[in-house]
Amino acid sequence: MLAVAYGVIYLFVFIFGICIGSFLNVLIYRIPLHINIAKGRSFCPKCGNTLLARDLVPLFSFLVLRGRCRFCGDPISPRYPLVESLGGAAAIVSVIVWGMTWHALIAFAACCVLVTVAFIDIDTMEIPDSMHVALIVLGICAVFAVPMPALVSRLIGIVAVSVPMILLDLIIKDSFGGGDIKLCAACGFLLGWRALIVGTFIAIIGGGIYGIYLLASKKKDRKGHFAFGPFLAAGMAVALFVGDAIWYAYLGSFGL
Ligand SMILES: [Zn+2]
Repeated sequence: MLAVAYGVIYLFVFIFGICIGSFLNVLIYRIPLHINIAKGRSFCPKCGNTLLARDLVPLFSFLVLRGRCRFCGDPISPRYPLVESLGGAAAIVSVIVWGMTWHALIAFAACCVLVTVAFIDIDTMEIPDSMHVALIVLGICAVFAVPMPALVSRLIGIVAVSVPMILLDLIIKDSFGGGDIKLCAACGFLLGWRALIVGTFIAIIGGGIYGIYLLASKKKDRKGHFAFGPFLAAGMAVALFVGDAIWYAYLGSFGL
């Protein structure tokens, strides 16, 4: 009986997550274009027709329409169901790790911001300042709602990675974008410096592998830039849940 109850709860949490994910698609599309995010129904970016209410059901409408616009038959980007699924997954993982708590809600909200950051950065190579503000606000909420990490750790987190990035930028010009640096400062406040460093390492490893792939496949030359935001966002999202655990497990492996 308990298993059924948990199943129902997780189903509702997942549905909540994909609905928020659907809204993230709106943010990702509209914020860079400066379209009001609250006004107007979603429309097909190809033919401009306003979507029907039944086409707005996350995931399911994509499956029902078989990934094509009802009006013009143009393929709908698989990114829409992907972002919705990420929202659903973030909601489930947040509840599994932190239970039905404020901590889970803050972690989920932070994941949503990070997903938005990743896709806007892929599209525009820029991270809007509103994203950094959102992460800082979540960090302030966390100061009151979550006992760990301590405030000192959060304050160190603001500078722990961002300042070395600024210094590296001085030595090798444009090695990091300003948006990436601000993202690391904001995430540092949210995560505390330990989890921040874990998240940064994950991002560097991911970005490094991708960079090698780009060079090897000759898609970019040495000077070519690619969006690092998605790797940072993914690293920080992982660190949000298991950053401190990885940090202490790593120290533990040295007997510290
Ligand atoms: Zn269309």
